[in-house]
Amino acid sequence: MKYHIINKYLIILSFVCTFIQCSKSDEKEETKGYLQEESNIPDYDNDPIYSKANPKNLPTYWDIFVESAALYGVDLSDITDIEFISEDLSGNTAGRAIGSCHDYVKIQVDETTFRNLTTGEQIFLMYHELGHDVFNASHDGGGLMAPNVRSIEYTLFQREVEDFFTGVDYVEWTDEECEIIRELLKTETQ
Ligand SMILES: [Zn+2]
Repeated sequence: MKYHIINKYLIILSFVCTFIQCSKSDEKEETKGYLQEESNIPDYDNDPIYSKANPKNLPTYWDIFVESAALYGVDLSDITDIEFISEDLSGNTAGRAIGSCHDYVKIQVDETTFRNLTTGEQIFLMYHELGHDVFNASHDGGGLMAPNVRSIEYTLFQREVEDFFTGVDYVEWTDEECEIIRELLKTETQ
């Protein structure tokens, strides 16, 4: 009789233990799922490079451009003549590359318009303009250098950045085009 009671208690006890274990591991799974949702979806805001961009500190866009290039073995560390100029570009334009076909990198930025863009648009715009100035890349390559700066989904943007730095969609201005650009910039910035 005594033995029977102990046995009964053991059975109940083992049930209780199993139940606790179950709920414990359930809790773990839930926490894991929650954390995954919070931090594992890559986006501009949690990307190790793009998250360093600061619209109130424009040279940070040069820093992240250099870092992105390095990911694909392109070394831009010897370029030191870089300037971001704050300029009123009358509402429609947030930024302009005025160092195309020149040895220097010079980007005009209408800071009011620029700050109203989304993070993705800001980074897209800066990479596009720096693409013009650093590589003399024309619009013909498409992708990152397609003429209309647009809002772009993070993963797609990553692919366009990769295609740009690995030369897949990258077409330089011709010498003739550079002549024209230099003339245009001369008259426009005088
Ligand atoms: Zn352009």
